[in-house]
Amino acid sequence: MQIYNTMTKKKEEFIPIEPGKVRMYVCGPTVYNLIHIGNARPMIFFDTVRRYMTYKGLEVNYVSNFTDVDDKIIKKANEEGTTSEVISQRYIEECKKDMAAMNILPATTHPLATQEIDGMLDMIDTLIKKDYAYPAVDGTVYYRTRKFMDYGKLSHKNLDDLRSGERQLKVSGENQKDDPLDFVLWKPKKEGEPSWKSPWCDGRPGWHIECSVMSKKYLGESIDIHGGGEDLVFPHHENEIAQSEAASGHSFANYWMHNAFLNINNHKMSKSAGNFFTVRDIVDKYDGQVLRLFMLSAHYRTPLNFSDDLMESAKASYDRICTCVSNLTFLLGGDRAAELTDDEKNLLEESKKYRQNYEKAMDDDFNTADAISAIFDLVRFINSNVNESSSKVFLEELKKEIVELADILGLIVDRVEELGDEEIEKLIEERQAARKNKDFARADEIRAELLEKGIVLEDTREGVKWKKA
Ligand code: AMP
Ligand code: ZN
Repeated sequence: MQIYNTMTKKKEEFIPIEPGKVRMYVCGPTVYNLIHIGNARPMIFFDTVRRYMTYKGLEVNYVSNFTDVDDKIIKKANEEGTTSEVISQRYIEECKKDMAAMNILPATTHPLATQEIDGMLDMIDTLIKKDYAYPAVDGTVYYRTRKFMDYGKLSHKNLDDLRSGERQLKVSGENQKDDPLDFVLWKPKKEGEPSWKSPWCDGRPGWHIECSVMSKKYLGESIDIHGGGEDLVFPHHENEIAQSEAASGHSFANYWMHNAFLNINNHKMSKSAGNFFTVRDIVDKYDGQVLRLFMLSAHYRTPLNFSDDLMESAKASYDRICTCVSNLTFLLGGDRAAELTDDEKNLLEESKKYRQNYEKAMDDDFNTADAISAIFDLVRFINSNVNESSSKVFLEELKKEIVELADILGLIVDRVEELGDEEIEKLIEERQAARKNKDFARADEIRAELLEKGIVLEDTREGVKWKKA
């Protein structure tokens, strides 16, 4: 498996530290609002990395944090007249709902910054003892950036370039820094902010320290993969490296993976720019599965522009795969020959090439776009080779194949199994109501929707009956 490493700017063969096991840390969202679909890009992509590695037989320990102490959370809490904890808990719950809607598996651990303060105090103390950090008079603790000789190795910046951009790095208490490049590890509390006791002052951590600490606690001092969006390369990940490597004396992460942005009109989608759509809105409009297919339809290191046209085309693609599977389900519902014919044996042998192509694409730095093409090749193959006289085993094998290849990408294409009885009854009720209101277009739409998911409706004198096709 080849992985593009931001650190070396090359694709490298993936060799885990411990054979058969993967330690992966991905920076998670700051929880002060519903997440937007830009935030969903790393979530969907790294969930897919995890699923694929698991499929390849690796045991993945996947850690992704929630940043639950931050200026934006505090601001929102003050606006609502409540605490940061109420705000962050609310949006963690909402984020988990969105993750479920996009079929993102919960990480092995989702640590919260506020639960890891002791570890942060320990690491800051170690850094001070090693002279990589120092407290200023007001109790702010700074990292001594210049002392870390490798600073800039991930973002490929050198310290002199950074000096010219240092104005961007200015924060309150600037004049107390030994050097403008130094960054905050701990800062004094302000009125109305959550705070913790520390040897330097009552206060709260800077943002960067949490990931170094959580990664060490849940995965160890050296990990295999560290990921996030490309905006995190500098300064966040550069600072994480400086903190972790200075504290432990070991290399922090072997492979640094960064997804490109999800854009709107070629501008990064972000809350601050106001050009965002929430996952909630898009899932309601299109379905979480369609959003997932859309995200994976481009390679993760390519910028992806969001548009209704592209979502419509993702919807059509998704429906095509589901229709192929429901067709197989439908055929399997009838009386079929039990034995494979010789012809079918050959066809099954031939169909193996789609999985090979799929794996080749995924092994090449997770080329999900090409993996999806391999699934479509398989759809075409199935559509042109199955019919009423296909044997049961032939249909079953092909169905298993396509469902599994989609499942590794987190795509659920066997919608019949997914629809619960209650959901079916609800749709039937909605159809009855539409018919009563003479909204026949909607009634037909529901019938078609159910049929696509393998549910056949029968209007009888006793009412509507349904069965699985
Ligand atoms: P934040 O809540 O801003 O810290 O972001 C959480 C994660 O989402 C980080 O990995 C970011 O890099 C990523 N992210 C935020 N906006 C975008 C975007 N427009 N496209 C891709 N990734 C993004
Ligand atoms: Zn982080």
